[in-house]
Amino acid sequence: MPFAACQEKSCMKRVSLVFPVYNEEEVLPLLYERVHHLLDQLPYETEVILVNDGSRDRSLEMMIRYHQEDPRFKVIDFSRNFGHQIAITAGMDAATGDAVILMDADLQDPPELLPQFLQKWEEGFQVVYAVRKKRKEHIFKRVAYFIFYRLLQKISNIRIPLDSGDFCLMDRTVIDAIKNMGERRRFVRGLRSWVGFKQVGLEYERDKRQAGEVKYTFSKLMRLALDGIFSFSYFPLQIASYLGFVVSALSFVAMTIYLYKKLFIHPDEPPGFPTLITVALFLGGIQLLSLGVIGEYIGRIYDEVKRRPTYIVRAAYGCSFEKEKA
Ligand code: UDP
Ligand code: MG
Repeated sequence: MPFAACQEKSCMKRVSLVFPVYNEEEVLPLLYERVHHLLDQLPYETEVILVNDGSRDRSLEMMIRYHQEDPRFKVIDFSRNFGHQIAITAGMDAATGDAVILMDADLQDPPELLPQFLQKWEEGFQVVYAVRKKRKEHIFKRVAYFIFYRLLQKISNIRIPLDSGDFCLMDRTVIDAIKNMGERRRFVRGLRSWVGFKQVGLEYERDKRQAGEVKYTFSKLMRLALDGIFSFSYFPLQIASYLGFVVSALSFVAMTIYLYKKLFIHPDEPPGFPTLITVALFLGGIQLLSLGVIGEYIGRIYDEVKRRPTYIVRAAYGCSFEKEKA
């Protein structure tokens, strides 16, 4: 195996795997089996952190059983559903590894890829992120993702690699840097790019979900996309000023044309109501749009100043964890 030579437990590095889990009772047995099998082969001390994001099915019960069967499996139980990004944040907070790996619980990110991740880490890379070469998902979702990542790349002030999600390995230094960032609306893949360090992408084919239904609803996905854009770009705010310029220029041209017509062509023409209404509606629309954009930022500022905990832990099994994370 292409790993560090030392196989002694005492000098082994420690690797943490983090899985966010929301109503995944169908896929958990498969996950347990595949991850368990892999852990036994890795020449590292390992821990698996399962974050129960307010599941309403039997997921928690099953995860506690896994913890009892194999103490390398640890469970954090949220007081309610806080969302995928917050669940992986809690996993990163609780992880004790020298490297932390984030993966989806539905096995779309194949655990068998981990040796390659760890190999890159051993070569000295501090972030190894997976880049999706192919997605076995619905065409609508694929197109939406394709456009989103390219749009974000264009308008954000950091370079978030194209087609890379949260599936990644991060070194302890990177985890500590991200943990120090207090923002509550978390777009983890953006924060990961923002912190810098030595990063490398690994291509892979994203599998289908192995069992159960998709847990990311359309509205959750939209919220994630908006968080990505508004947390890492001021472009939406600038749109208002661009539109302002364009509309002012257009209205100046229109004014000149009307004045010319009134003075030299049809001096007796009645005043143009349709034109007035069109212009009023157009400007009204732009003003509302601009207000909405400003509102998005103000809402986020409000969220930050309230300083509520990012998540609340009801119980933890196997990992020491402050009950409430400030
Ligand atoms: N998930 C979560 N909280 C949520 C929604 C999803 O922890 O509110 C978890 C889910 O259990 C899975 C991962 O996030 O492990 C990705 O979710 P899903 O597979 O539904 O999304 P997609 O593959 O479409 O990104
Ligand atoms: Mg999935």
